[in-house]
Amino acid sequence: MTALQTAPSTVNTSADKAALEANKLSKRLHRLVGQAVIDFNMIEDGDRVMVCVSGGKDSYAMLDILLGLQKRAPIRFELVAVNLDQKQPGFPEHVLPEYLARVGVPFHIENQDTYSIVKRVIPEGKTTCGLCSRLRRGILYRVAGELGATKIALGHHRDDIVQTLFMNMFFGSKMKGMPPKLVSDDGRNIVIRPLAYVAESDLERWAEHRQFPIIPCTLCGSQDNLQRVQIKQMLREWDKRYPGRVENIFSAMQHVVPSHLADRNLFPFTELRTTGVADAHGDRAFDEDDTCSTTPVANASAVKLHWIDSP
Ligand code: SF4
Repeated sequence: MTALQTAPSTVNTSADKAALEANKLSKRLHRLVGQAVIDFNMIEDGDRVMVCVSGGKDSYAMLDILLGLQKRAPIRFELVAVNLDQKQPGFPEHVLPEYLARVGVPFHIENQDTYSIVKRVIPEGKTTCGLCSRLRRGILYRVAGELGATKIALGHHRDDIVQTLFMNMFFGSKMKGMPPKLVSDDGRNIVIRPLAYVAESDLERWAEHRQFPIIPCTLCGSQDNLQRVQIKQMLREWDKRYPGRVENIFSAMQHVVPSHLADRNLFPFTELRTTGVADAHGDRAFDEDDTCSTTPVANASAVKLHWIDSP
């Protein structure tokens, strides 16, 4: 090699490295969202999906990724972004319309002053989130009907789902999370969570990379739910000390074994009779391979379809 020749081109600048990392992140996000959509049959041919955007990183990322998937999906579906402007003081109402117009997605801004209602009804110092969420839900369901939406997409991610599981276990004595897909409580809408497989840390990095115009979520003046904050911290610390733990917990939610829990409504314990036949998957609670494994369980339904493959 002469002095003028250079080494074969590799990643040689920090800009190259950042671009490579962003590309990897983009592929992972599109793959995980596409996989969740397929696994739960979230979006079907001809669907009109109402994508709820609040101005936070999660909903911006959800819209961004769904727009990417829409371009290469083997089915045709429409996206319409909806923001509910709750008239919180200081809400920068120009930010979302400008962004949504720029990315070229049809959108609707619903103006409803739920902030005043909540302030009027809830005594000072009490938490306002319960009523606020109920009002917001009702409005979004109505808007979905008016827009002819067949699905309502919410931006909850994997960590939200695991946090909810622990909230319900610790404070509600229930093993209940947040489903990736459900029928709304009014029975008239299908709600989907396309970010169900996505880690919050990836969404934080994606929001930074894409420079979403984030609107702060503290405008209503409500304190974060302390219990949820504590659970979030607990899970973050666990995941730092034992990488993959939150992923394992989420995976466990996909591999429930009712015969090895204690819910008599899920499994007919009272009807159990001996069978005389050995069961290789029977009670092995003390076997090391079950209790000492540190390997995340792979997603059992890793269906490969071209619309989730990388661009
Ligand atoms: S944080 Fe504020 S906007 Fe969000 S649910 Fe609670 S009261 Fe409503």
